[in-house]
Amino acid sequence: HELTMYYSMFTSVNVLRHNPTVKSEAAQHGFKDMTYGFLGYPVSQAADISIFKAHLVPVGEDQIPHIELARKIVRRFNDLYKPVLIEPEVLVGDVPRLVGLDGRAKMSKSLNNAIFLADTPEEVWQKIRNAVTDPARIHKTDPGHPEVCTVYEYQRVFNPEEVQEIENDCRQGHIGCVNCKKKLSEKINQLLEPMRERREKYKNDSIREILMEGTKKAHRTALDTMEEVREAMGINYL
Ligand code: SF4
Repeated sequence: HELTMYYSMFTSVNVLRHNPTVKSEAAQHGFKDMTYGFLGYPVSQAADISIFKAHLVPVGEDQIPHIELARKIVRRFNDLYKPVLIEPEVLVGDVPRLVGLDGRAKMSKSLNNAIFLADTPEEVWQKIRNAVTDPARIHKTDPGHPEVCTVYEYQRVFNPEEVQEIENDCRQGHIGCVNCKKKLSEKINQLLEPMRERREKYKNDSIREILMEGTKKAHRTALDTMEEVREAMGINYL
């Protein structure tokens, strides 16, 4: 949109090219040449954040370079024109990044290796059942190596009470992977259950009303910010 266009006028292609997340995503998708839209995506993200005057942006670790760039862009705008925009800060959770169920770099919708908050208990179980474990374990009694196992990574996050016991049992070949996965699936389903209930409660009309109310509020903020931006740039004749 309009703010993205203003930002793209003073953001260099070199800066965008050196963004580590853009580089790793390009490698992941096998892009030899990056399109204008792909390369410029962090610029529109910077506009999406700053138009709402966000102070804090909750993100996963891989998004940190994008927010850093958003900060740079906002700072540059404020220096060039007038300090009307807010430099957003990164808010990273206790678990900055979770490996994908297939053992790949991260859980991601586009890689189809993620558990969704809306998944049913059965879907969660099926996904975990197929998750990658220690390839050296063929029989239940084979000693395992939790450090190479995706399920173990998840146990550390979702099942901290039992993780030590699981680690010992795995190393000694006292627990089978199916059993271990069942424990994890139960834990994740326990965590998701209250979310499922809330989802059910808001499923019908009220969710639409909440969204419409939020959209109206966001729209008003965006209009105000754009007025300030145009005024700062001296183009408020629009
Ligand atoms: S027992 Fe659990 S931690 Fe050990 S390899 Fe199997 S799934 Fe991984």
